[in-house]
Formats: sequence, structure tokens, C-alpha cells
Amino acid sequence: MVGRLISTRDKEKKSISYTDALLNGLAPDGGLYVPTEYPQLTKDDLIALKSKSYLELAFEIKKKFVGNAIPDAALKVLLQNAYTKAKFHTSDGNFVPLRQIGADLFLENLSLGPTASFKDIALQQLGQEINYELNSRNKNLVILGATSGDTGSSAEAAVKGLDRIKLFMLSPQVGMSNFQKAQMRAFTGGNIFNISIDGRFDDCQDLVKELKQDPEFSTLGAVNSINWGRISSQVPYFVSGYLQVASEIGQEVDFVVPTGNLGNILSGYIARKIGVPIRKLIVATNENDVMAKLIKTGVYELIAAHITSSPSMDISKVSNYERLVFDFLDRNPLSVKEYMKEFSSEGKVDLMKFGMSTDIFVENGIFQGSSTHQNRIHTIKSVYDEAKTIIDPHTADAVTVAKRYKVDDGVPMIVMETALPVKFEHTINEALGFTPEKEERFKDLESKGTDSSFYNISSNSTQLKEYIRNNI
Ligand SMILES: *Cc1c(COP(=O)(O)O)cnc(C)c1O
Repeated sequence: MVGRLISTRDKEKKSISYTDALLNGLAPDGGLYVPTEYPQLTKDDLIALKSKSYLELAFEIKKKFVGNAIPDAALKVLLQNAYTKAKFHTSDGNFVPLRQIGADLFLENLSLGPTASFKDIALQQLGQEINYELNSRNKNLVILGATSGDTGSSAEAAVKGLDRIKLFMLSPQVGMSNFQKAQMRAFTGGNIFNISIDGRFDDCQDLVKELKQDPEFSTLGAVNSINWGRISSQVPYFVSGYLQVASEIGQEVDFVVPTGNLGNILSGYIARKIGVPIRKLIVATNENDVMAKLIKTGVYELIAAHITSSPSMDISKVSNYERLVFDFLDRNPLSVKEYMKEFSSEGKVDLMKFGMSTDIFVENGIFQGSSTHQNRIHTIKSVYDEAKTIIDPHTADAVTVAKRYKVDDGVPMIVMETALPVKFEHTINEALGFTPEKEERFKDLESKGTDSSFYNISSNSTQLKEYIRNNI
């Protein structure tokens, strides 16, 4: 049924509503919520969407995932509140504009939002939806999140001042850029609590999952891309990107996506599932290439993440992969449980043992490539020289991979631009020998907030639980 969700690990396949999944975040059994079935878009639907604004398009797509959990009129208002021209610095109502950087090669700018990250698109909407639902239920919610850099400020921008929500955000002590830290510092206070962990992003993500399994904290909400609300809010921009480049409906298009937790590209996979003519979905990783190796070999192996110059992709436990595995394993929760159990106990699991090969990725249009620091630097420079446009290091990882795949076959290729370069000045300077003038809104950011804006703790749940108890 439209708008119903099940957990990837629940053998009863008991379905819940969109809004229940929204507030739960992670399922109580540790699984992720997925739709009971994928809605479908026909060719006529796509033709009709082509003439619509981004807001109208987002409404039509979201409605297919929300079902009747939020009335249409209310959903429209939430979208209007989430996507304003002022917040997204656009004058024409296209929140995800394209620009061409090569023959049949395009960038889709997903980073016009308040914190210059693609995450703003889903999180602005998520904040609105959670707030709406809490008001309807007359409830409050404590949210615990983890960030490798961009989720933090983006989620904080989305829920700052919403008084039914308290947000505790975990970030790693090392790895984030100065700009990313400054963005978070500036949001501290009121309903926003920033906590710095002596560890990596994966440790932060583990703490979130650990607390969620603890009965005392089981009602914690989530803003990470484990939240189905986020994944479903990203599907519209794949549809929009497709419609902006396809010369006729039915023509195929490729997408290349800078990938960490697999949230962004999973939404592309869903767009493909619901009927958007996407040929290839290319996962682009940095040196933390767990996902790229998995697609190449079928083996998912945990390797501790190291710090790179595209820090928002420094991830080795790829949460959203479980949603893909669920489909791969014929939507059998018992097989998923077994698969994930083997991964967590052995640190490694092979699809072959579950009767599959890497063909499963190809059948689903999923390809891979990875990039190094040198590639990134080279690509930032070459895109600047050839197309007079400055791209951020994450987008550069994807452009690097895109250029390896691009052939002259007339199939448009869209690279998702996941952040603006201003967030990663140091790397831009290394590549170009200069740092571009900052937009007015970013100018004095680094002088805002103080060091005490972050509460420092070790990577251990005892202190974290204590801190949350004391502040709620
Ligand atoms: C979060 C992030 C990514 C990774 O996105 P996932 O959905 O986790 O795969 C890539 N680039 C930037 C700039 C990000 O902030």
C-alpha cells in the first residue's frame, strides 16, 4: 500500500505509516524502513511533470511516498516552508539548476540551501515534517544525529528554534574543515547541542545506533539518512535532473553521485525503481572505497575510515546499503539479518555466499569508481580551466569518475554537486592557487561562536547518556 513502511529486519513485515517511520528514524529491531512497494511513474506522468515547477514536482513525488499520513494540503504547505527562494538563493524557483561542463556532461547544483550542502534539500523538508507531526500529536522529540561534516549544520539549520525538538549532534574531533566547524558553532544554543567525539564518523554513527537500542533512549529521533523521510525527499531532484536534460521522455540518462553513507544515490536507485529512465547510477567514492570495492567484487569489508580532503565521504560502514541488500535478497528480512550479522561479527561478508554475484549491481544499473587526493586536485583545476566553474572536492571525486565513464554515445550524464567550494577553501587553494571571494552570507562565519560550543567526550556511550539526561 502507498505510504506504508516495513523494517528490513522484521520477519512479520508489519507495516507502519510514513509519519511513524519519520519519528522512529531507525526501526526498533535495528533495521531500516523501506516502502512495502515502490510507487510507479508512467511515461505520461513524467511528461506531465516536465512543465511543473520544482515545488509542484516535489509535491507529486513526495505524495507517492507519504500516502495519506499527511493530508495533501498540509504537505504542500510543508514543502513551501522548506523550499523558499530566499533560503535557497534562487530567483526563478528552480532549486536544483543544471550547468554544462562538457559534452553531454552536466552538474546538478544541489547545494543552494542555507548551509551550502545537498543535505539541506532533504533536511529542510524533514524538519518541517517532524515539526508538523509533533504538533499534531502534541509531543516533543529528542533527536540524536551523527555528522562527518555537513549533516550537522544542515540539520541544525533545519530544526533551529523548532521548540518541540531538541537536537544532539555528534561530530568527530578531527576531519571536519574549519568552515564546517564554524557553521556548527554558530548554531549552538537553544535547542541545539553539539558534541565532539574523540573518534571518527563511524564511531559517532555507532553511538547513535547503540543508544537507539537502549530502552531508555529508544524513542530518540534521527536526522541521518537512515531516516526514510530524508531518502524520500531526495527522489524529486533525480526526477527533476532527468527532466531537465532528457531531450524526450524515455531517453536514458546517467547519474554520478559523490557517495558516503549511500543516502543520496539510494534515492537515485528509487527514482529508477519508480520508472525514471536512468541507465547508470555511478557510485563515486574517495580513498574510503568500501562501497566501490563491494560493487566490483561483491565483498563488503569493513576497513577503518581515514581522513581525506573530501571529508563528508570518510565513511566505512555504509548504513543505507542495508536498504539495497533488502531488495537484492528478495526482500527477505531473515536473509538480511543473517547478512548483516555476518558483517558485524566477521567485519566482512560476501554476496556469493548468499547466492548472488556482482551481476546484481549491473542489473540495477549500479557502477562504481573511486578517486584520490591527486585526482580531486587535478579535476578541480581542469573543470575550472575548461568550464570556468569552481567545484568542491566531493563533487570533484564524482567528476573524476564521470570522466572515466563518459563516452560519446549521446547519453547525458549528470554529476550531483553536493557542496559549494566555499566550505573547503584549503583544498580549493591547493588546486587553483587562490581562494575565490566569499559570498556575503559566509564572510564573518569563522568568527562566530566559541570553542566551548562543542562538548567534548570520548567515544563511549556513558558520558553521552549522562549529557543527554542532563539536558532534557
Ligand atoms: C553527505 C555528503 C556526501 C555523501 O552523501 P551520502 O548520502 O552519505 O552518500 C557527499 N558529499 C557531500 C558534500 C556531503 O555532505
